Amino acid sequence: MTHPSATDIATRQAIIDACCEMSAAGINQGTSGNISVRCDDGILLTPSGVPYDTMRPEDIVHMTWDGSWTAPEGRVPSTEWRFHLDILKAKPETDAVVHAHPIACTIIAIMNRSIPAIHYMIAAAGGNDIPCAPYAQYGTAELSEAALVALRYRRACLLAHHGLIAIGPNLRKAMWLAVEVEVLAKQYHGCLQLGTPPLLPDAEIDSILKRWGQYGLRDSDSTPKTST
Ligand code: 13P
Ligand code: ZN
Repeated sequence: MTHPSATDIATRQAIIDACCEMSAAGINQGTSGNISVRCDDGILLTPSGVPYDTMRPEDIVHMTWDGSWTAPEGRVPSTEWRFHLDILKAKPETDAVVHAHPIACTIIAIMNRSIPAIHYMIAAAGGNDIPCAPYAQYGTAELSEAALVALRYRRACLLAHHGLIAIGPNLRKAMWLAVEVEVLAKQYHGCLQLGTPPLLPDAEIDSILKRWGQYGLRDSDSTPKTST
């Protein structure tokens, strides 16, 4: 698969659009969260602390696999560059990483809980739960290591006392999954008000995973796939 080049304006704009979409969809607020997309020699990543509605394509940081980066004067990579780089390095089938602080996901993550199999849509993340990575301070190698372990067999995880990571083969699918996981977190939070929710058995989730295939969002990725 070919990937966008470091200077690909359309991919940079798609990242900004997705950031604004996170706020509009109610899964993020302020300058929280960050997004990366694989490019031909590394990653394209949001800058740290820049309001999404003022972000311009040239503000997006280009980082190569050794962690060196280029950005305009006054812009630095997201503080979470380590987990973005490490995830995209470790998972060749993944081309996009979305991190946000959605309210319901973060409530569950503050309680240090995983989201169990309350609904068949749990399978969207690749298994019978959305695991919660143990707490590590934002921006650290420890947080990146914890996230990589939690994402070993999953496409989404919670970060204790922090938020959510969702990944996908493209930005549209990673965004779709981020929204779906927040819906699951809301459902789980609601169930907990009423008691201990009954769970779908592992065998049922296994059976759903076998049928999963293209279920869910059809691949309508608009992120350009050719270098320009
Ligand atoms: P950045 O603005 O540095 O990307 O940080 C936001 C965040 O969510 C840190 O975990
Ligand atoms: Zn964060």
